[in-house]
Amino acid sequence: MDAQRAVLHADLDAFFAAAEVRRRPELAGKPLIVGGRPGGRGVVSSASYEARRYGIRSGMPIRQAERLCPQAVFLPVDFAYYRELAAQFRAILSDLSSLVEHLSIDEACLELGPAPRWPEEPAAAGRRLRQRVRAELGLSVTVGIATNRTVAKVAADLAKPDGLRLIPPGQEATFLAPLPVDYLPGIGPNAARRLRELGVRTLGQLAQIPPYWLRVVFGRRAEEVHQRAQGIDPRPVTPEERAPKSIGHERTFHRDLSERSEIRQALRELSEKTAREMRLEGLQGQVVSVKVRFDDFTTLGRQRRLARPTIDGREIAEAAVGLAFELLDEWRRPVRLLGVRVSGLAPLAVQLALFDPRPLRALLLLRALDRLAARRDAAGASSRRPGTALGYPVGPARLLVSALERR
Ligand SMILES: [Mg+2]
Repeated sequence: MDAQRAVLHADLDAFFAAAEVRRRPELAGKPLIVGGRPGGRGVVSSASYEARRYGIRSGMPIRQAERLCPQAVFLPVDFAYYRELAAQFRAILSDLSSLVEHLSIDEACLELGPAPRWPEEPAAAGRRLRQRVRAELGLSVTVGIATNRTVAKVAADLAKPDGLRLIPPGQEATFLAPLPVDYLPGIGPNAARRLRELGVRTLGQLAQIPPYWLRVVFGRRAEEVHQRAQGIDPRPVTPEERAPKSIGHERTFHRDLSERSEIRQALRELSEKTAREMRLEGLQGQVVSVKVRFDDFTTLGRQRRLARPTIDGREIAEAAVGLAFELLDEWRRPVRLLGVRVSGLAPLAVQLALFDPRPLRALLLLRALDRLAARRDAAGASSRRPGTALGYPVGPARLLVSALERR
């Protein structure tokens, strides 16, 4: 077990309901149900803790909630407003760590690191987060902290609402042992029922029985569930940037190209465009591919892995020209279309820390040029794609990059 790891699980309390109270303080302390009009056919999206006391839960039909608590206040869902608050929540989280994985609109796990001093540093980070969310958003967030994701999540579940629970290294199994099996993420009501039939009620009991017995309930996941029940979970926190698998551009020419100089120039332009888009997305890439369509419509591709990841159009062009010229040497025909594509993409900011500052300076310069180019494009034509160009979309990697730019 890596005792130095610290994972923080953050979960906003009764988020939609709390968001409604935030803008309508007169609702504070009342049973509040977000998710539809009374008498409607909808389900409960979120219920305040006052409403939960009546047995109301997310996913329950509104009519049933009405029967349980007729005096509750029912409000429709306002996603646009919740998303706005969630974006502010994300911004606060990304100040705390560059490794944030968003699990849902109001829930995330963060890797604190690299080697925090237990328990002082993780605890201080948790308190800081809770204070900031309270002060800046007017919402309460519950925090669980442990050496891995599973234990941090369960700790947060137990600390709800408005709490902080820290499980120190070495105490994972002891902490989980007395809990009912369905406290473990991944064990739903069906699995819990089948485990009860086997006489297994607590996570401690689950951890004791041989994993192959668990196959009847969990199939291939048996080993994994068995490990988790002991508080072992090596899964990393992976910032989901919804990164594309590859970025590239291609172009069909008005007339077929035969001159090497023309082909080189076209590949440079395509490479530059590709690199600019990668930087806008906050991604670097390592595999360069070219696509060449000849005048007889024969279409061929070739790719090369670079020695290290790049964000530089010149490096991409150099590889692309080499690959395209190989194909031209073999086929000796005029070219109708050229394409450049970069794959092997990874978030830029996460990698940057590993490098020396020179590429960083180069990056900042390139980004400054990108902004000029984007401004020029915006002034010139409406051809730019929505979602890119001037403003950089917000994301953990991008936030870090823009923080570096501000320095
Ligand atoms: Mg929540």
